[in-house]
Amino acid sequence: MSTIAANLQAVEATIQAACEAANRPRSTVQLLAVSKTFPAEAVLEAIEAGQRAFGENYVQEGVDKIAAVAKARPDLMLEWHFIGPIQSNKTRPIATSFQWVHTVERLKIAQRLSEQRPAELGPLDICLQVNISGEATKSGVKPEELEGLAKAVVQLPNLRLRGLMAIPEPQADPALQRAPFARLRALAQDLIKAGIHLDTLSMGMSGDLQSAVLEGATIVRIGSAIFGARHYE
Ligand SMILES: *Cc1c(COP(=O)(O)O)cnc(C)c1O
Repeated sequence: MSTIAANLQAVEATIQAACEAANRPRSTVQLLAVSKTFPAEAVLEAIEAGQRAFGENYVQEGVDKIAAVAKARPDLMLEWHFIGPIQSNKTRPIATSFQWVHTVERLKIAQRLSEQRPAELGPLDICLQVNISGEATKSGVKPEELEGLAKAVVQLPNLRLRGLMAIPEPQADPALQRAPFARLRALAQDLIKAGIHLDTLSMGMSGDLQSAVLEGATIVRIGSAIFGARHYE
């Protein structure tokens, strides 16, 4: 078995154990394999092991990899999620190549994605990224501005608002990992009470996946536990 296949099995076992501990069916959590910095060959290995949903952070790298993988496996329906920071001049390739975007934090970006989404692809699935760690990171809409942004995004014709995403400050102690995930879940519940339909909580990475599942994650974004350590040029 390849290393990637063995890693996927281990991650799957962790997700199953977390679902059991949380009393949730395994089918309520989707595993997104985050392939940033790894070549198309690594994605093809994961596909060989049964993985179908992949996350990318950098537009050009992602678009090139999507094309390379599609060329190698034209027989397969894959799901590609954009999970990186978005510059407003890079929205078009995101809107045309990806099915999901997890990192929408401004209305202007959402408007461009909606305008640039090709009609024949159907609506782009969107998560709003929320800054739940306060000052520590600058990414994400502030919780107090979330409802206004959500209400504007649901008006956009070619987007489908699915849920919320967050990247809490890394925290090695599992006892401290759950609080920010619980905050994200509470924010989603507030929006649902305000009449906005949501079904997705994108939260949890290699280091805090169990805590995220215990707090209701429906998509976990796992990179290094599947593909190994990343080396940036
Ligand atoms: C890189 C990345 C991940 C995966 O992180 P790992 O710690 O390698 O699992 C998940 N989400 C986002 C937004 C990322 O940028």
